[in-house]
Amino acid sequence: MKLDTKVTIFSLVLTLAMIAVIVVVSFWSFRQFAISSEREHIRSVAEIVRIGLSESLIHIEREKRDDFLGHLAVVEGLRTARVARSDSVTRQFGKGSELEQIQDGIEARVIQDGQPYYQLTDESDGPVFRGTLPYVATRAGHINCLQCHYVAEGTVLGALTISMSMGEMMRSAYTASSIMVAAIVLFMLVMLLFFRRLVKPVIATAQDVQVTVERAIHGDFHANIEKRTSDEIGQVAANLNSLLKFIQDGLTTISSSVAQLLQQSPAHKNENLLNSTISRVEGLIDAAHFKQAIEEDETKPEIYRRLSAVLQGRFNIRNFSIYEAARNSGHMTALMVDGEADAPCRWCDPQILAHAESCRARRTGHAINSIESPGICYAFQPPAGEQGRCHVCIPVIQSGSVGSVLQLVVKQEESERIQNLLPYLYVYLREAAPVIEAKRLMDTLRASNLTDAMTGLHNRRFLEEFAEMLASSNQRRKSHLSILMLDLDYFKMVNDTYGHDAGDLILKALANVLKASVRASDLVIRYGGEEFLIILQDTASGSADSVAEKIRASVEGMKVQLPGTTLQKTISIGIAEFPHDSETFWQAVKFADVALYNAKESGRNRVVRFRPEMWKDEAKY
Ligand code: GH3
Ligand code: MG
Ligand code: MG
Repeated sequence: MKLDTKVTIFSLVLTLAMIAVIVVVSFWSFRQFAISSEREHIRSVAEIVRIGLSESLIHIEREKRDDFLGHLAVVEGLRTARVARSDSVTRQFGKGSELEQIQDGIEARVIQDGQPYYQLTDESDGPVFRGTLPYVATRAGHINCLQCHYVAEGTVLGALTISMSMGEMMRSAYTASSIMVAAIVLFMLVMLLFFRRLVKPVIATAQDVQVTVERAIHGDFHANIEKRTSDEIGQVAANLNSLLKFIQDGLTTISSSVAQLLQQSPAHKNENLLNSTISRVEGLIDAAHFKQAIEEDETKPEIYRRLSAVLQGRFNIRNFSIYEAARNSGHMTALMVDGEADAPCRWCDPQILAHAESCRARRTGHAINSIESPGICYAFQPPAGEQGRCHVCIPVIQSGSVGSVLQLVVKQEESERIQNLLPYLYVYLREAAPVIEAKRLMDTLRASNLTDAMTGLHNRRFLEEFAEMLASSNQRRKSHLSILMLDLDYFKMVNDTYGHDAGDLILKALANVLKASVRASDLVIRYGGEEFLIILQDTASGSADSVAEKIRASVEGMKVQLPGTTLQKTISIGIAEFPHDSETFWQAVKFADVALYNAKESGRNRVVRFRPEMWKDEAKY
């Protein structure tokens, strides 16, 4: 119910209640006043009548008594005036006229008790007050009753009944009450008008506040509540205007800053500013948490797995690919496809893996969105039955070039939802890019630490780092490793005769020969200056000898062209097997070295397999 209606109803109820109380109280007071005044009135009349009658009995003829009583009836308001004789008077003076007989039980009772009796009755022409009073014989006062009446003092001589009409008095009461009611109504009317005038700005301000607050709940904080008065209500309006302006300005600033971070346009006019800001800030917080998590991840695959989990969990995207672009070659690798690691390329022509340039996002470094530009990329080739899908391919720029590409594959009905999610996804990728780049650089650095720059082979540090893993995985598979230790024969001479550069050329050529002579799963390591170590994995026992012999022969046949001459070198090779020859991996390396020493000792350009007796003379090594 509105405040206005409440005030009106309250005033009406109050007015009616006041009128009812005033009417009841005034009528009751009038009645009480009328009764007590009539009582006095009747007593006075009774005394006058008693004196009048006694005087007329003493000094005037007895017959004139009735006239006296008759004349009393002429008095305005006096209905009846009658005197009834008691038995003692009847006995002494006779029955008297008909009027002097006892008329009713009330008179009989008053004569008997000697107590006055009063009664208010409602007659057809208005209320009538009757009083019946006893005349008691007394010698005191102006008239001595016992002078004429031969009775004992205190005997009831008769009863005087007087009835008086109260109509006039009641009319006066009605008039007075009506005036009072009219005055109250008038007063309340004035009060109501005054009150409404007073309350009107309060109500109008309250209504404005209600509308404004409702709008604020829906994100519209524009407020212009009219300041109707200069009292507290006006102050409330002014303060609320300032408060909402403060909130609006603050939210607009936050919202546009957040929009800038998301590279989004600011909130629309009819958008709920508060809700949109909250959801955007939540998006940024999630992205910050994501960044924190990937910073603590150890490897790139972990980061891509986490990104994949975010795409599925937070963004509810089921179909997507994450491609990594190789830095120095035109290749791409599908790292994640639909949440699966290292799965085959599903949504694009697999050609893009070999020719990364055919991936439009990789080539241009721009987001490629087929929701906005249908058919924009020819390489997007969904499998049969999945036609009609759209794709959004977002390149992730790392150190100025495209490091990876995130491809979202979207059903038509999902395109709007995905479009709205894109700004958030960009934030995630923006956060992820430097972390992925840092990990990539770490990987590169680590690889370079473990690689020999001149030959491109693994170095000794690599062997030290991976030896343990290699040995334990070998033991797990219950297989064995063949270790070949190689050293060029009389290499120093090359340096001395043709110079260090010529020596380097031979080392590079040798590295190529060694790599070409073993399987991809075998490891070729530059162990020292011109010493090499080859680890053959899962070789049948004894087959290492033939591999070593093949290597020896290849080196022997290797020709290195120098300006003006061609160089040919030989190599000596020692072989040991783990765990066949030794308990530990490093012991096997040592035994291969012992065998190599033997090869050198026994004339060079040969392969020698380790035999336990070679180790007898430990001090030699
Ligand atoms: P042998 O092994 O048959 O006993 O004789 P050797 O002349 O090869 O003797 P040794 O293995 O002791 O000589 C190693 C030489 O290899 C010494 C050094 O000048 C050379 N050398 C080591 N590293 C490099 C390198 O990176 N480049 C060049 N050019 N020479 C290197
Ligand atoms: Mg050497
Ligand atoms: Mg040598």
